[in-house]
Amino acid sequence: MKNLKKFDPEIYKAIKGELARQKDGIELIASENYVSEAVLEALGTVFTNKYSEGYPGRRYYAGQEFTDKVENLAIERAKKLFGAEHVNVQPLSGAPANNIVYSAILKPDDKILGMNLSHGGHLTHGHPSTLSAKIYNFVSYKTEPNGEIDYGKLEEVATAEKPKLVLAGFSAYTKQLDYKKFQEIANKIGAISMIDISHIAGLIAGKAIPNPVLYFDIVTTTTHKTLRGPRGGMIMCRKEFASAIDKALFPGFQGGPHMNNIAAKAVAFKEALQPTFRTYAKQVIKNAKALEKELQKLGFKTIFSGTENHIVLADVFSSKGISGKEAEKVLDEAGITLNKNVIPDDTRGPMDPSGIRLGPPAVTTRGMKEKEMKLVANWICEAIENRNDKKVLSRIREETLALCKKFPLYKNLKLK
Ligand SMILES: *Cc1c(COP(=O)(O)O)cnc(C)c1O
Repeated sequence: MKNLKKFDPEIYKAIKGELARQKDGIELIASENYVSEAVLEALGTVFTNKYSEGYPGRRYYAGQEFTDKVENLAIERAKKLFGAEHVNVQPLSGAPANNIVYSAILKPDDKILGMNLSHGGHLTHGHPSTLSAKIYNFVSYKTEPNGEIDYGKLEEVATAEKPKLVLAGFSAYTKQLDYKKFQEIANKIGAISMIDISHIAGLIAGKAIPNPVLYFDIVTTTTHKTLRGPRGGMIMCRKEFASAIDKALFPGFQGGPHMNNIAAKAVAFKEALQPTFRTYAKQVIKNAKALEKELQKLGFKTIFSGTENHIVLADVFSSKGISGKEAEKVLDEAGITLNKNVIPDDTRGPMDPSGIRLGPPAVTTRGMKEKEMKLVANWICEAIENRNDKKVLSRIREETLALCKKFPLYKNLKLK
């Protein structure tokens, strides 16, 4: 980075600082991961200079020999990974991908049935402060006290509300969804079915959990969570929705695609097609289970208990008398990063909720296994229980740092 260092030392220092932060901390934010150096290399390329509005073979500007090659490879590899009929790799991220789908298949005021937000659903599935909630009419379903979705109740809501779109998917839920039930319910009321697999895409690509792509009309995802690619989104769908979705993306919602990002997506998809990615995905789930089990042993109440994916949700307020916000802050001091999270029907506000959400996708990438998850769970407990003791927190900070040094990250990445 010699040019950057010379011209813009402030940004250069921030990048170096962020690299050190990522190397030296236990990253448990369930939606984060570490991309490979190959993905980073693809991101920082001259593809960022190119305008390529449109799709391969039908662009608005000239000079598309290499952009077409890259986008076609990304599409081909995504199809191989997920078995989708049609793929659009241009969404800039997960939230735009969802908005693009809504605008492709719905009219203003049409009804969408999605998962209740405090029960694990995502902001883009109906939070009142989003643009989509102002345009469409969202109704929701919940989970039961045992952590499961009651599909009988879901069917009742769907039959009573008659939504145009039945939406599955979540950002803070730990159970396997019954894809077939969603399909049957959508079919029964003549609705379109959609699943947002942003969180679990890597587990699906790694064949650690079942693939929903055959069951749903439309599938959206991010590429940067468990899938371990660059920040970005993707839409997969049945052929009959392809043209509406492609048009809703461009010219409907976005302008020129970020082709350096699409190149990096293609690289990440190639990585996810390797056998080692299957080992990775399975280990992520094993690690999440180990983390949850140890936290339970230490007296933490977990929500949707018995995780079947990469997410663990704990009610720290009822089990340890600390709010999610305070727990997040204390753990950050101890070198462990995770996020505060609401629990179902949380009586505390979203800015200072009862829970924390954590997951091992990132630490699994750096090679940690069940044994390390046990250590981490014990540090979480100790830090929370000794939150006012600066000496304990700084001792744990040293121990987390020592563990990180044992599982080095970006060994060959030297920012000079
Ligand atoms: C993360 C996430 C998104 C949003 O993705 P961004 O890239 O942050 O826009 C959408 N849906 C679900 C279910 C998610 O988990």
